[in-house]
Amino acid sequence: MIKENVDDVESRVQAACSRAGRKREEVTLIAVSKTKPVSAIYEVMETGIKDYGENKVQELCDKIDIIKEPLNWHMIGHLQRNKVKYIVDKVKLIHSVDSLRLAEQISVEAQKKSVETDILIEVNVAEETSKFGLSTDEVVQLVRDIAKLPAVHIKGLMTVAPFTDNPEDNRPYFKNLKQLAVDIAGKNIDNVTMNELSMGMTGDYEVAIEEGATMVRVGTGIFGARIYAKNV
Ligand SMILES: *Cc1c(COP(=O)(O)O)cnc(C)c1O
Repeated sequence: MIKENVDDVESRVQAACSRAGRKREEVTLIAVSKTKPVSAIYEVMETGIKDYGENKVQELCDKIDIIKEPLNWHMIGHLQRNKVKYIVDKVKLIHSVDSLRLAEQISVEAQKKSVETDILIEVNVAEETSKFGLSTDEVVQLVRDIAKLPAVHIKGLMTVAPFTDNPEDNRPYFKNLKQLAVDIAGKNIDNVTMNELSMGMTGDYEVAIEEGATMVRVGTGIFGARIYAKNV
């Protein structure tokens, strides 16, 4: 089941890359394993996928403790400042930085552990009030402020587009995020690169790749539907 899912996603990723005239290596497929057991992650690992996304610190740390193989773990969910210390030296990339205070905390904890932490700035391109992330006009100032912090490095932008049945609805948001990244890159801010665009989920990753995503975060499409048990 999981193997077939991965094959299907992989062929769609490849097709989207070729439609867009991009190389497959330009896009990292992140398997979003939140709520899924370690046994399911092992199944996905057998297909060769090395990048996994989690949105809760506790679950992320539990899984890292169990799975000894070297993997790239991505923190993709809202991050509280008091939990930064648990993950700063364990994750490849924190996708969900949306405030200076959070970035400052990452900087402090990274220095304590003598590591350098890479981050993305989360942008709420669709300006949905229910979502985390900054509006586009707040982003440039935040990037400038975070760029001055030691031990933390901005590598690009991330967005969670609206849930929709028609992925074409999200194309304008992906285009906007790409344009914002191009604009910021043009400002040549020290300690800032805009090489990563984390956008696209199960419902819309093909469109996101066509619009320049370098990382797509696919959960349901790989692991199947999530069941959220109560009180767990
Ligand atoms: C859960 C989640 C995903 C994956 O969602 P699917 O629709 O299951 O692919 C991607 N990004 C973030 C930030 C998530 O929380």
